[in-house]
Amino acid sequence: MWNDIIKLIYYVNLKGAVLLNKKRLYLIIIVFVLIIASGLIYKNIRDKIEVVPYTMFLKYLEYGIVEEVKLSDSAKILVKLNNGKKILTDNPRTIDFKKEILMHDVNVVEEGIEAKQIFMFVALTIGLIGLVVYFRKNMSKQAEIEIASISNVESAEYDTRIKFRDVAGNEEAKDALKEMVDFIKNPEIYNSFGARLPRGVLLYGPPGTGKTLLAKAMAGEAGVPIFPVSGSDFVQVYAGLGASRIRNLFKMAKEAGKSVIFIDEIDSLGKKRKGNNISGSEEGDRTLNALLAEMSGFKENEGIIVVAATNRIDVLDDALLRPGRFDRQIEVQLPDVKAREKILKLHCRNKPLARDVNLKKLAVETVYFSGAKLENLLNESAMIAVREKEKEITNEHINKAYYKVLVGDEKKDRSCLKYKDREITAYHEAGHALIAKLVSKENRVTKVSIIPSTKGMGGFSLNIPPDRMYQTKGEILSNISVALGGRAAEELVYGKDNITTGASSDLAKATEMVLSLIGIYGMDDYAGLLNHNVAMAREISGSIDLLNRGKDILGSIYKDTLDILEENREILDNMAKLLLEKEVLDEDEINALVEF
Ligand code: ADP
Ligand code: ZN
Repeated sequence: MWNDIIKLIYYVNLKGAVLLNKKRLYLIIIVFVLIIASGLIYKNIRDKIEVVPYTMFLKYLEYGIVEEVKLSDSAKILVKLNNGKKILTDNPRTIDFKKEILMHDVNVVEEGIEAKQIFMFVALTIGLIGLVVYFRKNMSKQAEIEIASISNVESAEYDTRIKFRDVAGNEEAKDALKEMVDFIKNPEIYNSFGARLPRGVLLYGPPGTGKTLLAKAMAGEAGVPIFPVSGSDFVQVYAGLGASRIRNLFKMAKEAGKSVIFIDEIDSLGKKRKGNNISGSEEGDRTLNALLAEMSGFKENEGIIVVAATNRIDVLDDALLRPGRFDRQIEVQLPDVKAREKILKLHCRNKPLARDVNLKKLAVETVYFSGAKLENLLNESAMIAVREKEKEITNEHINKAYYKVLVGDEKKDRSCLKYKDREITAYHEAGHALIAKLVSKENRVTKVSIIPSTKGMGGFSLNIPPDRMYQTKGEILSNISVALGGRAAEELVYGKDNITTGASSDLAKATEMVLSLIGIYGMDDYAGLLNHNVAMAREISGSIDLLNRGKDILGSIYKDTLDILEENREILDNMAKLLLEKEVLDEDEINALVEF
């Protein structure tokens, strides 16, 4: 209702059909004051009537001096006695209260919606509208913009010019989205096979990596309209507006038929819900619930796909990630050196470049730049060239732009990360990857990278051998060794005093594994077959020192890990060097290094 009232007022004001001048405003305020006054008077009159305890009222009933009882919902009920006196007593609100008084031959009047109440309601509504109008007049520009946007956030864009070829790099994300294009185009086919189509895709990764672009390209390829909104649009000052906007959005998408709904910054409405809420986030919860309801609500195989984007998957409410919601999660990463070159090329298509500009070299120099930043760099270069009245964009222009682009965000991101830091990361990640390859022939390392992601610095992807139901002790031990490989490489190359904090989550993983090995799986000779959780549950502890035993095992595995790396120092150096150069290595490149 709020939504409608505000919309109506905005509309009325906009069209100028009913101009709310000062006179009318005063009238509204007077009406409002009158309502409050009459309410007070009414309350006063009621206060004058004597209130008797309920037990007393029951006695009156017994004595037969009650003539009439006015039933209502309120806390007190009005009772008329034989002598004409009126009293108030507590409303017991029991189901057979009416029956009981009827048995005593008492008149029962049920208080329906009386004229007075109708009047109160109407007057109150008018008063409220008056208030809204009044505040509207005094509202800041920001709020005015907000209201103005109410009626037009949910509008579709229909731009089939943006295609996947406009997105450089991000190959994995593109492949996953290409599949979705087919779902949108041919839902009938999937339907006839009884397949349930995915409804939501979540794109996550650092800002400016092309998530919005990917969603638009997906709609463009499928040839359907896209409804782009931002999660923060739904966080409103007016209660309930966010939820109703969500419903409105889905309604419009359904009317459009096959389409893509794109919700940017989904984290601003889908944060993890907490038990004890402050009122501010309750509104957010309502909006989130509306989104979840809509997503579960729409018919499958309709050809509507909801794409959401976030920089922070870790803060999202779990309910959003469940099947039937955003169950496809695709990571969109910062571009590596090859992808950067492609992005630069793409954005140079319409720009006159001098012949001496080397995009390959520029790609090497723009470590940790996002796609948006690269685009910005070229755009700035073009502006500088225009300002200097040149015919082409030269290296000099690009250099100037480079510093301009970097100055803006100084230490906010890792663009200026020192070479030394990159080298440490390279050795750390190479340590993990190399150990993984060397401790078990079955381990497949599909990727190593030194590009920061939302999860942290660099990373490696280990495909642990074929799904099996059980893990052997040997496998657990070698996984611990892999986890310690990063720290071991740091120590080997830079010495004990120069190890970094970068291994903290590795150590957490290793600790978890070793404690389970000893305390849950009974795989350690010294600790025997005891399950520590059971022992703890019985409050028996102290007999076996789990902590010291774990520390010893980790220590000995760490020593072995160091030895393995030392023996293969040359491969480690080569891998770190190649990582520094390429930033990301794929499986073939890793295998080639290890099996030379
Ligand atoms: P995000 O939604 O991840 O914050 P955007 O999609 O809004 O990023 O990217 C902003 C702009 O940066 C895009 O419009 C595009 O010009 C450029 N851009 C980002 N990533 C790429 C990419 N992979 N290929 C081409 N252009 C890109
Ligand atoms: Zn690590």
